[in-house]
Amino acid sequence: MKRDTVIAHVGRHPEEHFGAVNPPVYRASTLLFKTMEDYHHARAHRLDRTRRSAYARIGTPTSFALEDAISEIEGGERCLLVGSGMMGIAVALHAFLEAGDHVLVVDTVYAPTRRFCDQFLSRYGVEASYYDPYLGAGIAALIRPNTRVVYCESPGTSTFEVQDVPAIAAAAHRKGCKVLMDNTWGLMNFRPFEHGVDVSIQAGTKYIGGHSDLVLGTVTVRNEDWERVGTMSHFLGTHAGPDDVYLALRGIRTLPVRLERHMENALAVARWIEKRPEVVQVMYPALENDPGHALWKRDFTGACGLFGVALKPYPDKAVAALIEGMEYFGLGVSWGGYESLITPFKNDTVRTATKLDLPGPALRLHVGLEDPDDLIADLEKGFARLNAAG
Ligand SMILES: *Cc1c(COP(=O)(O)O)cnc(C)c1O
Repeated sequence: MKRDTVIAHVGRHPEEHFGAVNPPVYRASTLLFKTMEDYHHARAHRLDRTRRSAYARIGTPTSFALEDAISEIEGGERCLLVGSGMMGIAVALHAFLEAGDHVLVVDTVYAPTRRFCDQFLSRYGVEASYYDPYLGAGIAALIRPNTRVVYCESPGTSTFEVQDVPAIAAAAHRKGCKVLMDNTWGLMNFRPFEHGVDVSIQAGTKYIGGHSDLVLGTVTVRNEDWERVGTMSHFLGTHAGPDDVYLALRGIRTLPVRLERHMENALAVARWIEKRPEVVQVMYPALENDPGHALWKRDFTGACGLFGVALKPYPDKAVAALIEGMEYFGLGVSWGGYESLITPFKNDTVRTATKLDLPGPALRLHVGLEDPDDLIADLEKGFARLNAAG
């Protein structure tokens, strides 16, 4: 089966659901048993997540269907759904770290992940240090005797540096470390387990949902790592609400066509932006002259619609004029819905291993499913406002 066929069919069991194409939304807390034997069996095999769990917090046929689908799409073996992408990151880091351990985190990591490491894990005796996203096999020199986890996110948040994940993973494995990765941008276009990743985390909130109407996280592993992740889920009492799970399951069925169009539109918009005199650099690995393009081409089968734009120096009020007057690009965090977004960021983004060297302000664009001609016209007027106010 090829990828798109898998995505259309995986995790569906119409014969168990009255013939319905999609599994229904199971709203439940208590799950009832007829016999003591079944009851004790379900409770003794909590981690099995067979189609009969002991308690709906652990799962129902709705969540098992999505877990099976995500495992298959990412090339892992087991998946855990949790209430948000951030919760997925927290569960995964908790599962593989303990007091006295050290974790190496990519410097371009999603900012809340950095805060979690610096301000929360530190309270439990775990030390985090940061590494250059372009450091491939050279990461070996940073691995200490107590390093247990190497954490990747490729491409990086806001600035989209592509990491040499296979080289990093090989070096990490030689020293006995687990490789965790935030694969939210790569999604179905980066198969983490084929590139040496042990634990793949995604914000299902983004393209998996795809319609800006849910918050969800996924943690995917191979069988050998399931016990740690599943046990941590029990300790923390993680859960994903059935309606969000259902919407995400509905979302993934159209993922390949949506993502292809997001990429096509983003390329059209990015190529137009690249030629603008106001712009220093477009940070989008799918562009031929992006520094990460060769690695992206080697390891990814496509791109999504999210990229960065570095501007020449402009005052804040000029950037505000650009953003606030946009007709189709909304101002707001998160991304991966069908609609376009624009958010500002600056040189003051926290980095400790590398320096973010932007001459002026920067923008993060999410290119949605609108007609790219309309998006370009919207941006053209935006650049006019930027110049008028700059
Ligand atoms: C949005 C995002 C997250 C967090 O996901 P939530 O569902 O909002 O908690 C994690 N990593 C990346 C790269 C993201 O963009």
